Amino acid sequence: MKYEKIGPVEVIIGENKSRVPFSTSVVIKGDEHSTIIDCGAGYMAFKHIKKEHNVKDIYLTHHHIDHMWGAHYFPEAKTYINHLDYKKISSLEEIAKSEAILALNKGVDWWNQDRKKLEQLTDIRINRSLQVSDVYEYNKSIHMSGQDVMMIHAPGHTEGFCCPYIINQGILFIGDIDLTSFGPYYSDRDSDIDSFIASAHQTLEVDASYFITSHQKGVVRKDEYKSQLLAYLDIIERREEKIKQHIKSGNKPVDLVGLEVFYYSYQMEKSLSLMKSEKVGIAKHLQRLIKHGEPLEEYYEEYIKSHHLNKEYLSNKIAPTLTSSSKSFI
Ligand SMILES: [Zn+2]
Repeated sequence: MKYEKIGPVEVIIGENKSRVPFSTSVVIKGDEHSTIIDCGAGYMAFKHIKKEHNVKDIYLTHHHIDHMWGAHYFPEAKTYINHLDYKKISSLEEIAKSEAILALNKGVDWWNQDRKKLEQLTDIRINRSLQVSDVYEYNKSIHMSGQDVMMIHAPGHTEGFCCPYIINQGILFIGDIDLTSFGPYYSDRDSDIDSFIASAHQTLEVDASYFITSHQKGVVRKDEYKSQLLAYLDIIERREEKIKQHIKSGNKPVDLVGLEVFYYSYQMEKSLSLMKSEKVGIAKHLQRLIKHGEPLEEYYEEYIKSHHLNKEYLSNKIAPTLTSSSKSFI
């Protein structure tokens, strides 16, 4: 198990370099008790935390499985999530809606199959829903085991996603703004590409020296952060350019999935979850192109029809935006 210490904060890298379904956890050690932020690092990490810490509270940045599954292993701790994810984390139906599982025919069937496969492959037991103790407020200082932490609302990846800022330590937990070579994920019903970009830029305004990612990249120092973030965001534009070229060349909407905008075909053949993410991700780009003035309404409708997608679960009517008080933390 790999971890890094920054003052009273432990950054615990998850198994398999924190690749999904694992993720990096942040543990704040106080005089009497500790707080975990995100809980999916793996059994070895949980064992270490239990040995070295007296865990009082667990804060979750959002409802995604790789950030929450370990909370079940700390029944003695109180768990907190934001109000936008409160319903989702405790209800399989709400999760299926929010993650656009219901956008696909028989989505729930393959979702269950994929989950079983994942459990066999990773040897983790996944209980997808969690009854949390309470909700936390965004953009307000919260006392966590001796540190003041602000859960900065950063919608886009999901509508509820946020970046915990451990103020006195100069640490910003950027989580799923993860700087990986794969690029940003925004294939949930309530994901939004423009909000993702706005939230990512917002992180540059935060006075932090350490930027902690949830997957693979670990901890990034301030001097490297901006260039890595901009290169990461550029992947969004490259994906969109690929789609635009396809349309410009007169190709059909049904063939967009063969473009491998997000995933390789062999990966999608093995995992219907990835196929879902590919289809929804492309829909998000088409929605964005229309929003930016491209006359692609009919093309979008045909894309939905040709892939038998349920439009209702492809987007929230209102795109998630930064909460009004988001900028006040700077
Ligand atoms: Zn996530």
